Amino acid sequence: MANRKKQDEIPAFARIQNYINGQYENPSSNEWLDNYCPANGEVYGQIPNSSKEDVENAYTAAKSAFKQWSQTTLEERSRILIKISELLEENLHRFAEAESKDNGKPVALAKEVDIPRAASNFRFFGNAITQFASESHESVGQDAINFTLRQPIGVVGCISPWNLPLYLFTWKIAPAIAAGNCVVAKPSEVTPVTAFLLGEICTEAGLPKGVLNIVHGLGTSTGQAIVEHPDIKAISFTGGTATGAHIAKVAAPLFKKLSLELGGKNPNIIFSDCEYQDMLETTVRSSFANQGQICLCGSRIFVEAPIYEKFKNDFVAKVKALKVGHPSDDSTKIGALVSKAHLEKVMTYIKIAKTENGKILCGGNKVVLKNYENGYYLEPTVIEVGSNNCRANQEEIFGPVVTIMPFESEDEVLEMANSVKYGLSATLWTNDLKRTMRMSNQLQVGIVWVNTWMMRDLRTPFGGIKASGVGREGGFEALRFFTEAKNVCIKY
Ligand code: NAD
Repeated sequence: MANRKKQDEIPAFARIQNYINGQYENPSSNEWLDNYCPANGEVYGQIPNSSKEDVENAYTAAKSAFKQWSQTTLEERSRILIKISELLEENLHRFAEAESKDNGKPVALAKEVDIPRAASNFRFFGNAITQFASESHESVGQDAINFTLRQPIGVVGCISPWNLPLYLFTWKIAPAIAAGNCVVAKPSEVTPVTAFLLGEICTEAGLPKGVLNIVHGLGTSTGQAIVEHPDIKAISFTGGTATGAHIAKVAAPLFKKLSLELGGKNPNIIFSDCEYQDMLETTVRSSFANQGQICLCGSRIFVEAPIYEKFKNDFVAKVKALKVGHPSDDSTKIGALVSKAHLEKVMTYIKIAKTENGKILCGGNKVVLKNYENGYYLEPTVIEVGSNNCRANQEEIFGPVVTIMPFESEDEVLEMANSVKYGLSATLWTNDLKRTMRMSNQLQVGIVWVNTWMMRDLRTPFGGIKASGVGREGGFEALRFFTEAKNVCIKY
């Protein structure tokens, strides 16, 4: 993403538009941004660089839709959300191909994970809202009863990142509208296309105009305008920790509700008593799925000393066999990274690791694919590090790069796992039940996987602690976030 351009200076190809009040429209500023295809490094379209005025228009549409939408029955909201889900499923191939082209991820992955999960988000919250209940408290001996209303907040803002574009965009939008809010949403400017296509699906599903408004543009202008808007009363944000900190500063004096899902540096802790083959296969996936660009990837691998050498050899052999290729090729396991800037950032960390005496066990180089020489490809990289204190173990790289190191004891590995500023997730490989419980209790994270990775049940709370965020998404947690609790006390 770069280069601001005026509309007249660019050819009218593959230009996407904002979706406001049920209509597609150009940005009022008439400013456009180039959109790059990571697989070949070429500009293949433009997106609006929306201004404050576009955000205001989106807000106005959302505000006028709120009165009716917040009073729409739960059954009707549910019906529309489930219809959106069905239409996404019917359009699976089109959406998966668009997601892959925009993001660089293998089409196969988008077909298997991203788009089905986006559809599940709508189906799940379409069902969940019909089961969402609030509490009542009988004040015994005082002839009074309290009950809690769970009311939609009004107009809310949803801002999402580029790594799982439609998946994370809809993970926010679905609970927000299910709960009766109207939304001003902004996808990442790096991967805007499936969010653009979603507008069409919502219209077809009969979502009333103004309930969902999608504005495209840079975080620092369009995103900032959403966060600063005095009447957008809640912000659900997923993205980097530094952006989250900035958003928190802007939102705090405006007293907005805030949900922040931020970066991670997740430990993958492997004990000798694990199911070895299952662990090995899953660890390859938890390291490199989506080019390692999943906030939940286990980027620091700690292996118990007795199996360290065996694991190192087997893991490196498997990683070397992963095919880096064009995202449309069915045999590709590692597609392109999302952008040139991101590729360069990830490569800088490989250099840093070398200067810190990290040993590159495999990978480390850019891959130049025939016919796609300008694509953003990188070999999956495994670095052996001598200490958890190095930058490669402390800072989020968010690419196809993992570190490995051995450990001797449970206490030692727990100390290393917790010695980072982040606290999103951890993966634990062991068959020892007591150890599982001890470790799960003490790991400073929001999510622990034991003998599995990224197995998701959408009813469970999702989110991190420390610099990985504030609040939880998922299930009723999300519906609670997108509603205000109001207590009514009746004396009889
Ligand atoms: P980012 O913070 O750069 O951008 C995320 C979104 O915020 C984009 O839409 C961007 O335009 C917008 N934005 C940027 N500045 C803004 C501002 N001042 N005001 C309002 N909006 C603004 O993150 P990214 O590079 O797109 O995504 C990668 C990061 O996201 C990684 O750190 C990753 O760990 C994190 N992530 C976290 C989770 C999670 O659930 N915890 C999930 C996926 C990704």
